[in-house]
Amino acid sequence: MYDTLYISVILPLKLEWEPCYSVPHGMSSGKVETGDRVKVRFGAKEYVGTVSATGITPDIAPERIHPISSIENDLEKVLPEEIALWRKIAEYYLCSIGEVYKAAYPAMKITLEEARAAALKTARERREKIIRSMEERIARIEDRLRKKEEQIRTAREGTKKKLALEEGVAKIRKELDTAKAALEAARAGKAAPEGDGSDMNGNANEQGARLTLSQAQEKAYSEVKAGFAKGKPVMLHGVTGSGKTEIYIRLAQEAISKGKNVLYLVPEIALSRQLEDRLEEHFGERLLVFHSGITAAGRRNTAECIRNSRDGYLTLGTRSALFLPHHDLGLIIVDEEHDTSYKQDSPAPRYNGRDTALMLSLIQNSNIILGSATPSLEETYNCECGKHIMVQLKERYHGSGNADVEIIDTKAERRKKGMEGNFSRKLIDHIRKTLTDGGQVMILRSRRAWAPVLQCEECGELAKCPHCSVSLSLHKSGDLICHYCGYRTRNTGKCSRCNGSLKPLGAGTQKIEEEAAALFPDAKVARLDSDTAQNKSYETKTIKSFAKGEIDILVGTQILTKGFDFSRLSLVAVIAADTLLGLQDFRADEKALQLLEQFKGRCGRRGNRGMFVIQTSQPEHPIYQRIMAGDTECDISHLLAERKTFNFPPYSRMLEVTVRDRFEDRAERMAGKLADLLKKRFGMRPGAIAMPGSPVTGPYAPTVDRVSDQFLRCIRISLRKDRHLKEGKQAVKDIIRQFEKDGKYEDHIVIDVDPA
Ligand code: ADP
Ligand code: ZN
Repeated sequence: MYDTLYISVILPLKLEWEPCYSVPHGMSSGKVETGDRVKVRFGAKEYVGTVSATGITPDIAPERIHPISSIENDLEKVLPEEIALWRKIAEYYLCSIGEVYKAAYPAMKITLEEARAAALKTARERREKIIRSMEERIARIEDRLRKKEEQIRTAREGTKKKLALEEGVAKIRKELDTAKAALEAARAGKAAPEGDGSDMNGNANEQGARLTLSQAQEKAYSEVKAGFAKGKPVMLHGVTGSGKTEIYIRLAQEAISKGKNVLYLVPEIALSRQLEDRLEEHFGERLLVFHSGITAAGRRNTAECIRNSRDGYLTLGTRSALFLPHHDLGLIIVDEEHDTSYKQDSPAPRYNGRDTALMLSLIQNSNIILGSATPSLEETYNCECGKHIMVQLKERYHGSGNADVEIIDTKAERRKKGMEGNFSRKLIDHIRKTLTDGGQVMILRSRRAWAPVLQCEECGELAKCPHCSVSLSLHKSGDLICHYCGYRTRNTGKCSRCNGSLKPLGAGTQKIEEEAAALFPDAKVARLDSDTAQNKSYETKTIKSFAKGEIDILVGTQILTKGFDFSRLSLVAVIAADTLLGLQDFRADEKALQLLEQFKGRCGRRGNRGMFVIQTSQPEHPIYQRIMAGDTECDISHLLAERKTFNFPPYSRMLEVTVRDRFEDRAERMAGKLADLLKKRFGMRPGAIAMPGSPVTGPYAPTVDRVSDQFLRCIRISLRKDRHLKEGKQAVKDIIRQFEKDGKYEDHIVIDVDPA
């Protein structure tokens, strides 16, 4: 007689427990291990789950326990480190482990053949790319050789200079020979010569890629290492263009030479694409890329490479790359740490990639470096209280070349008839001069579409989405579109209430693009926003052609402020900057400051002085004065002090609870009842009005209080970061789960920990 084997299984569902199943005798000779994937019935459906424990003692009657349907031997086995990360995320973000599992292993239907085909294709593409880069490199070396030989011809016989030059030439010749041999080998389809481990760059390509860091970089680099030696996360605070990336590369090379793996996170796919080429030069075939812009088969292929890899690789990706089957991680890099794109809004897990990377580094016992030119207040705080180490890199690699800032008062300009459409004459002059000098221009407008709002000339009514409490935007196509739910209708030009005519208000990116094209007919103008970025290859192409100088003026939304590196970009301008400040949120100032600072950092690279123009109707706003003064340090401490006064994060842990319902009164009532329960738990009177520093605030209607026919109400909970924090968070979760169960409110309540 055998004992029945009982196992617990993680299912891709919002379940607070891990159900128990039995393994029938004879199935796979009864051998089931933690991490195996199994098919089971739950309710009326079948799911593929992950075994989280075996040999457990069930706490329900054996006859109520179902057997598993099958063991999925063809599916990847999940590593214990992966499950550990899921648990940590579920605990921290107050969601179920099943929701994390579902995010980590989305039900992708890919046949093995597809994955293999993708693997072959990427291997071929990579080889072709490597060959191309080798050819380019040989051309560069030949160029250098020619120049040196030219110098030798003109140098006087027997002089020290001539001897040195000859020595140089011999070196370059040798380099050329090695490069040519490597190219031959690559062309013949042979594996690229392997380095001896310590010499990663001997691999495949670019010996020249071995880095010599500048003095400032060397100093920062050794401080980073010292931080790692203390076992602490390091925050690299370096202005844009200071050479942070090169430091990451050096650290990654070191980790890989020790046989360790590296994870390199960026907030956006577009940034990943721009870095790919640069990293490929250094890491060749050891570079793996993972983000949602890659086909499912390609992603699966990357996951398999990582799972099976025995020697060091570097994975470049967006936040979803955190869920790859990582093992032996030696280093995690979180670039542009401040970027809110790291935060997943929906669905659960509503995690922040930066903070999850910190959890992963603990699980993997790996080093972690975060980098930014504009550190988040959270990170600044972490460094101030000694949890993390702050390392400064203040100089730009190619020399100063900071940007001059000019604030243009659009109200005053309008009075003086100094505006042409949305462009001030002053800005037009700057753009013209930049273009004449061969420079490039970027124009930021935070609203997309042609006109963000339409208003009736008769009754003043705004054209609104029938499903959301927001205005419809007029697009160039002639459609009115809701940017929240995607609702789309033809613009009839008539008000739905009184049939008066609708007038477009304001200008979105499409209109700015049109105006720019009309003002500068000889310039090539392009646009980048989330309408164009729907098409990822268009986005990549636009960024690449801008980098190559094929586009003169690029108009776009916030995407322009991300960490791109364009050498000829010398003027960046914001049209109607006021919309950046209009947000009513405790993070608004921090975010506006980061955005402007980042955008400013895009120009004036490679030692050229850039120019930053801000058009605004509120030139007196303190944020512009700070940008002008270039003193963001002082701002940060000012902002931190403010957060402390109001007990906002990072001085407290914030939880945002959103209640939604089709009926407004029901949403209101539900939220009111829930808020009272929460207030009671945290020692406030029911119905109490929150004061600054109160643990529970709300319920209140958010600025956009209806989306896709659901009315929204929010409650905010601020918990002190003390030893009761965990307990407090758990209490919130318990109260909400109980409330949902009692009122059958499942799917009406969302918990967001650390809302962005
Ligand atoms: P950041 O990541 O801080 O914005 P980058 O690493 O992109 O800065 O560096 C800015 C520019 O300086 C890049 O063009 C880079 O190639 C160059 N650079 C930085 N460090 C070095 C170095 N040690 N050797 C050669 N070029 C460097
Ligand atoms: Zn809508």
